[in-house]
Amino acid sequence: MNAQKYIDGNPVIRTVANKEETVWINPYFLPFAMTDATCQLVVSDADIEDAEKRLGRFASFIRRCFPETEETNGLIESPLKAIPSMQKKLEETYGCEIPGRLFLKMDSHLAIAGSIKARGGIYEVLKHAEDLALESGKFTMDEDYARLADEDMKAFFGQYTVQVGSTGNLGLSIGIMSAALGFKVKVHMSADAKQWKKDLLRSKGVEVIEYSDDYSRAVAEGRKLSDMDPMSYFVDDEKSVNLFLGYAVAAKRLHKQLTEAGITVDEEHPLIVYLPAGVGGAPGGVAYGLKRIYKDNVHCFFTEPTMCPSVLLGVATQEFEKANVHDFGISGVTEADGLACASPSGFVTRIMTNLLSGDFTVADGKLYDYLRLLYASEQIQIEPSSCAAFSGPCGLLTYADAKAYCEQHDLSPEKLANSVQIAWATGGRLVPEEARKAYLNTYIG
Ligand SMILES: *Cc1c(COP(=O)(O)O)cnc(C)c1O
Repeated sequence: MNAQKYIDGNPVIRTVANKEETVWINPYFLPFAMTDATCQLVVSDADIEDAEKRLGRFASFIRRCFPETEETNGLIESPLKAIPSMQKKLEETYGCEIPGRLFLKMDSHLAIAGSIKARGGIYEVLKHAEDLALESGKFTMDEDYARLADEDMKAFFGQYTVQVGSTGNLGLSIGIMSAALGFKVKVHMSADAKQWKKDLLRSKGVEVIEYSDDYSRAVAEGRKLSDMDPMSYFVDDEKSVNLFLGYAVAAKRLHKQLTEAGITVDEEHPLIVYLPAGVGGAPGGVAYGLKRIYKDNVHCFFTEPTMCPSVLLGVATQEFEKANVHDFGISGVTEADGLACASPSGFVTRIMTNLLSGDFTVADGKLYDYLRLLYASEQIQIEPSSCAAFSGPCGLLTYADAKAYCEQHDLSPEKLANSVQIAWATGGRLVPEEARKAYLNTYIG
């Protein structure tokens, strides 16, 4: 791929290649109605509904294996919290204006895996288990799914292996759920993966294979090894539609939460969402689900580290999975371990091409500043990757290009004053105490 051509031809890509913070507004963005037919061919509303129903069927199993989900009856769902103090702190600290009401969607605190991966990763493992159980004739769909935790079923699943490549959190979610079902699990981890994530997985009986290379390599090796074993299933973060579906269910759940909170999303009350992106699957699935529900009334922005803006480059160049940050002279090495994917998902960069509003990039040092601000203002701690989300609300009316996006899309000051903005916190609950303290005291740049 000829990166220089894009650097020379596009001033925003030049800024990105210079590793400076910026916003990229998506020139391929289209009104929802123009995307509807094509998108439904790939991932339909019925597909998302099917995924939602599957998670419902598994609720009794999840409840049985993970008592922490007792309160939610086996549903893995996170709170949506207004964060007015953080909103004020951000405005004061950065001299920006954040209109409307700022919320935190706390996937950082999701049960079981403590990150957004509890949506897609767990969903894909459950789907695989259901497929195997039904095919075997040992289980039928009319039974109570709690039975899948019985010893005979565990022994049955124990014949099979699940493998995944991960920077950490996907490995945690796949590893924990696969181990609960009885699967043998191998997690191929990139050099970015934090030590505590490897330790936690090993404590659950998961085999962790470490690579001194980056994420793409861990995935490629994992895929190769899994393909050689007919009893092994590979969860493919760079391609998986099932992962995407698990994430997309989040939109229906959010809609319910907003409705219960008396919040309407319509032409006069827009919704603006900021999602940290790594390979693109999690933010892509959530954003896709939201677009299916709210159409032109939701605006979805991704946020990425300046050191690894792979989804931005994949969509902006339309080179999709062929785009690699290294070709643009960017290291891909970032404190945001959950976002350290040098090349994006080909599937997600394609399906989001006409749906994504834009992408904000954020310097590593800012992640820790946001982390401290959130902790000081709301007493909530999330992991550095998650904090990328805050670059959105600060940047929306600060960057000229983002402001122009608002003007072009009828986001007038009056409408923005009525808006709900959501920073999607993607991980944090499982961070050990020692690492939490260290994060609060990390200063870069
Ligand atoms: C994985 C992850 C993301 C991004 O998800 P992708 O599917 O890789 O785009 C964001 N934040 C955290 C904490 C993550 O673990």
